Amino acid sequence: MATTREVGVGDFVLMDKIDLDNFMENLQLRFKNGLIYTYIGEVCVSVNPYKTMNIYDQSYVEKYKGRELFENPPHIFAIADASHKVMKQQRKDTCIVISGESGSGKTEASKIIMKYIAAVTNQEGKHEIERVKNVLIQSNSILEAFGNAKTNRNDNSSRFGKYMDIHFDFKGDPIGGHISNYLLEKSRVTTQQAGERNFHCFYQLLTGANEDLLKRLSITRNPDQYFFVRQGNAAKVGTINDKFEFRDVTTSLNTLQFSQADQETLWRVIAAILHLGNVEFDINEEKLEIKKSKSVDHVADLLQVPKRDLETALSERVIAARGDIMRKEHTETEASFGRDAFAKAIYERLFNWIVKKINAAIAVDSSNFQKNYQSSLIGVLDIYGFEIFDNNSFEQFCINYCNEKLQQLFIELVLKQEQEEYNREGIEWTNIEYFNNQIICDLVEAPHKGVMAIMDDACKMTAEKVTDEMLLENMDRQLQGHKHFMSRQTKQSEKSLRHKIDFRITHYAGDVTYCIIGFLDKNKDTLFQDFKRLLYSSKDPNLKDMWPEGAQHITQITKRPPTAGTLFKTSMQELVKTLISKEPHYIRCIKPNEVKSPTNFDYERVKHQVSYLGLIENVRVRRAGFAYRQRYDKFLKRYKMISQFTWPNFRNGSDHDAVRVLMDEKGYADDVKYGKTKIFIRSPKTLFALENARNQLL
Ligand code: ADP
Ligand code: MG
Repeated sequence: MATTREVGVGDFVLMDKIDLDNFMENLQLRFKNGLIYTYIGEVCVSVNPYKTMNIYDQSYVEKYKGRELFENPPHIFAIADASHKVMKQQRKDTCIVISGESGSGKTEASKIIMKYIAAVTNQEGKHEIERVKNVLIQSNSILEAFGNAKTNRNDNSSRFGKYMDIHFDFKGDPIGGHISNYLLEKSRVTTQQAGERNFHCFYQLLTGANEDLLKRLSITRNPDQYFFVRQGNAAKVGTINDKFEFRDVTTSLNTLQFSQADQETLWRVIAAILHLGNVEFDINEEKLEIKKSKSVDHVADLLQVPKRDLETALSERVIAARGDIMRKEHTETEASFGRDAFAKAIYERLFNWIVKKINAAIAVDSSNFQKNYQSSLIGVLDIYGFEIFDNNSFEQFCINYCNEKLQQLFIELVLKQEQEEYNREGIEWTNIEYFNNQIICDLVEAPHKGVMAIMDDACKMTAEKVTDEMLLENMDRQLQGHKHFMSRQTKQSEKSLRHKIDFRITHYAGDVTYCIIGFLDKNKDTLFQDFKRLLYSSKDPNLKDMWPEGAQHITQITKRPPTAGTLFKTSMQELVKTLISKEPHYIRCIKPNEVKSPTNFDYERVKHQVSYLGLIENVRVRRAGFAYRQRYDKFLKRYKMISQFTWPNFRNGSDHDAVRVLMDEKGYADDVKYGKTKIFIRSPKTLFALENARNQLL
């Protein structure tokens, strides 16, 4: 058997000395030995192996099923099992929060968890439960087809946030689920950076569709023909088989009750977007013209709207002013902007429609259960990780804000509450310092003075003349002196920031420079009314359903819809509320290198992640801390049988006294502390020994 020296310790809490160097040494040693999981107490640190690991098959499932965390080597299965166990035995809602930067293995982790849960449930082989497991798992391939894309960081990068509840019956078998999705990066529909792709579904359709479908959609296989999928010049990806995926997605769509008509709608919208990207404008004798091509005809056919109306919506907008209706012709820029907004909006609606349909298919079928039946659930959160690109825009700003919120939750639940419990229980304890990122959350979300609020204020000004530059000036004025905000204006010596263009936020995970250009438009997220009415007029009932607001007449005064930033902020605050109400389990994912290599351990990059994730602080809190704690009465109930003094009853004092006598007798006095209501046990090994002693008597 390998020694600790060779493979490191399975729990960072067991390190001789706790500091960053030792942490890194242990992590690196384990990675080199193919051990990708390591605990910090009940938190699982996972390093992306970038190779297929043979550690997820049935033999591993058997090994981890129903066991305690400390009984087996660290594994994500153990965390999934712990979460399932708490849910089943205590009827408590639990959640598994998976965090880490882009490409660190979050989405894979969430799939492994789902597969594990599927593998350990439904022992009786009930047909209905089998069906539920199947639909839950197959929903993944649909969501990934429409919500994931190749980026320069990750060939299968999730471009939306996903939180999935899995509901269980009293036996712990899955009976349904629900998915919440967060901010889809829809700008990708019209623009891709070099080396990146549009969402997978576009390429899947082009390579996977049969000739008949291609013909119905008036498309050819060649991605180079379509502006919206060729900009990144990366249509072929070595690790992806689009043709195979198309078949897979089609199977999943069938399983998840997408009818033939639904699937037609789906691919027609995708094809329409491809054609829309080839629509171009011209100015001829000061009049806007749509350049001659078949593209507009195809778009109209595919969306099943009158061609004339489509042309009108592309080239002018209707304005209602004091009851009068006027038409205003677009400039060339406005027309291009309108076309892109249109493409993005139909894609986003389509995505939401897909999620809605999936939710209908995976919903708990209440007819199978008694009326007042209350199920419990496990929530799995797989949301975009912290992102720094060469060019960071509104989307990265939102994504990174989301990660600030999750870090805040981690601090709240793991660091703060743990310390508060020690204080409450009167356990001796020196406080551990950690960086509290609340200040950065405030910088973004504080009412009236946060970046989101300043952005919304700028969007509210009716004048079309408010520019991104003016927005940045406002931010400069209001955020001057903030420790985590900087621009050329607030710090003139900062030459790396472009004047009136860039600003920088010092996130908990590092500095990110954002380019302000496009922030206002993306926050306003305007789609001309004309498009909404156009889509509402579609002969395709699915499309019509996606655009209910198109029913409004132009003269009806509509309230300004909330901005994209505000919607996102609200959804994040709700997400945090949901998570905080459940018992959390954590997977902290780490990306070993930037080149997707299974052997390369980029020491500095990993060190950076370990630092900002607060893992050292986590170990310190945990170690000063205790692996296990339990109320005296419950502890006694479980273990009183192993001591002659406490079995069958202890007569010389309180439960507290009884537990002390028991632990003294067994020789564990050095490993425990006694709080006001709970016993705290430092080492998992003690607990293991207690369990063993108990098992021998059973
Ligand atoms: P994230 O969701 O954090 O951006 P992914 O989960 O998509 O990252 O992982 C990126 C890639 O890394 C995957 O496509 C896969 O190739 C590889 N990978 C991640 N986790 C594992 C794992 N446990 N085993 C094998 N490969 C993995
Ligand atoms: Mg992902």
